[in-house]
Amino acid sequence: MVRGVRRIRLHDTRTGDVADLVPRDPGRIGIYACGPTVYSRLHIGNARPFVVFSLLKRFLAREGYETTLVINVTDVNDKIYDAARATGQDSASLAREMTAHYVADTDRLALGRPDHEPLASEMVDGILALIASLVQRRHAYAAGGDVYFRVRSLPEYGQLSHRDLDQMDQGEGVEGAALKEDPLDFALWKAAKPGEDTTWESPWGPGRPGWHIECSAMAEALLGVGLDIHGGGIDLLFPHHENEAAQTLAAHGRPLARIWMHNGMVQAAGDEKMSKSLGNIRGLADVLDEFGRDAVVLWLVSGHYRQPLAFTSDALAQAAASAQRIRDAGRRLQPGPPSEELTALREAFFAGLADDFNTPRALAALWDWIREANRAAGAGREQLAEMLSVLGLDNLLTIDDAAPHEVVALAEQRARARAARDWAEADRLRDELREHGWEVRDGPSGAELIRTA
Ligand SMILES: [Zn+2]
Repeated sequence: MVRGVRRIRLHDTRTGDVADLVPRDPGRIGIYACGPTVYSRLHIGNARPFVVFSLLKRFLAREGYETTLVINVTDVNDKIYDAARATGQDSASLAREMTAHYVADTDRLALGRPDHEPLASEMVDGILALIASLVQRRHAYAAGGDVYFRVRSLPEYGQLSHRDLDQMDQGEGVEGAALKEDPLDFALWKAAKPGEDTTWESPWGPGRPGWHIECSAMAEALLGVGLDIHGGGIDLLFPHHENEAAQTLAAHGRPLARIWMHNGMVQAAGDEKMSKSLGNIRGLADVLDEFGRDAVVLWLVSGHYRQPLAFTSDALAQAAASAQRIRDAGRRLQPGPPSEELTALREAFFAGLADDFNTPRALAALWDWIREANRAAGAGREQLAEMLSVLGLDNLLTIDDAAPHEVVALAEQRARARAARDWAEADRLRDELREHGWEVRDGPSGAELIRTA
């Protein structure tokens, strides 16, 4: 494959405009996306950046770029201390438990793992070195065992989130207020407080990292300063990403990332942000149980990543029906190469993705492709698989995966009947499967379910 032939454009929050993707290192793309704070199970909204950036990586890899995706895990944080205290657990074991849930829940999306999934707790040496360099450059100061970033020392502060200094609230409340030179300053290191059971030694006394510094340290360690794409939810733009950008720029004199991408929020009924504090969250695992993985992935790519996406049962049910239509289309394809019309629609599909990762535009081209293939009784299974693969949905062309639970259960009953040599019952179950639109074929490697309707 010829590398990087297609012009790929992405929206950069810093400039507010689309920009050509020009890799720092030719042929290679590094993506850093902010991952979860592991104090509870993942909700469906948290799954959106995981899916968006996993699929963006797939697309860029398909375009010939050697692509590295880093999604961190924040396993040291006030929220974790609070949640652990509420359950009487120690915070490290709660974080370990929730990290394991996060991995298991996102594994069910079947999009693969990011290349690196660093834990904040394993990056403390790098964090301490970065804080020390900020103190040395007078962009940070120690106070009462804490260390704060001196916001007004950096003229570029605010250029990512486009806010005036007087509209900024670091969200740190009264904590440390008396120690800060300026209310705008934010914590890089927090002195250990009574009841906090996870702490590290530092030149400023025992404590633990502030939230924002871990991402600067991890991104620098794994992808280097000036990485290609920094991603995350738009809710993280301020203060988290503004502070990440500030820390790295202040420490190195070079910007952290070339392009800042932000995904919109998943909204609950009434256009509300889905959040724990509003009590309207749906767990990722629950949604996967109810609608299945294919529907969840298809629903998440049905909207443009920058727009908010409404979570409704109707939308998920519609996505499940769409997944079924794709399966059906795959079965109807004839063998042989695709027509020119289909190949042009495939181009439109990839052109949509190259234009700020416009998955709804790509999906529209995919549906046109399917309609045209149906109309012309066309061929081109590989072409369809190629498009679906970038969306993490090529499994829709694997017929066995498509058998619903009740069909699998009937096939298992039939296998038991055959094992017991109850041929009449086995035949009856075969007829029942046929009524469901499935045929069971006994082959050398066991029974195979083939869809007939
Ligand atoms: Zn982050």
